Amino acid sequence: MPGGKTYRTRAIVLDKTKLRETDLIFTLLAQDGRQIRAVGKGARKPGSRLAARCELGCSVDLLLAHGRSLDVVAEADLVSAPLGPAPSFELLSAASAIAEVARVCSFEDAEDHFIFPLTEKAFAVLGGLCGELDGAHLDLLVAAYVFKLLSHEGYWPELSGCVSCGDEAVSYFSAAAGGALCASCASSVPGAEEVPAGIVSWLRALMARRFDELAADPIDAPCAVYILALAHVWAATHLDCRLRAFEFLLGR
Ligand SMILES: [Zn+2]
Repeated sequence: MPGGKTYRTRAIVLDKTKLRETDLIFTLLAQDGRQIRAVGKGARKPGSRLAARCELGCSVDLLLAHGRSLDVVAEADLVSAPLGPAPSFELLSAASAIAEVARVCSFEDAEDHFIFPLTEKAFAVLGGLCGELDGAHLDLLVAAYVFKLLSHEGYWPELSGCVSCGDEAVSYFSAAAGGALCASCASSVPGAEEVPAGIVSWLRALMARRFDELAADPIDAPCAVYILALAHVWAATHLDCRLRAFEFLLGR
């Protein structure tokens, strides 16, 4: 950065990993959509205020100093802690899956003004902005985050009709083929999966509806898990990577 060795940004905490005995490396999503990895010196010492302010999902105002390889957190002011002071295991698992997808979809050198507000809103609704969510709605919100973000990245599922022939009577889905399929075309697509009635409508709703609207939509747990599994296959296929926090969420 020309003219100074420090800079300020608001950022969302996506991850923290241990570095040496007393330090942490934070993975952060900056307001301009870039990913920042920065060292929190002394953050692992007992009672560190820095660690308390930089929990998963927190929005923080940061003063960062440019370092040789990684930047260093000089100051951190907590703006919001959407998951609350003592998030449940279910809430943390869902938030970790969202953070993982955000990490894979953000880059050090690429601004993206869509991903920060989307991620901030997802964490807020997940954490109870519109009321405490049950497991089914946590699953639904994670799936919605995946389809919204990946659509923005260019991986938009075709849901209005069959990917192959355009027929509106769709009852199959294939991540590799790019969306919904009719029964006839699905027979020639390896791995195309027949989906229960209503699932394609749900996928359309994930794209069209806001997080707070989805949080109020009635959904049962098996349907939500099914949609979450489709979102996982969609993300793993198009991002071409393993998503371990997501796998953990599905396997719990
Ligand atoms: Zn077709």
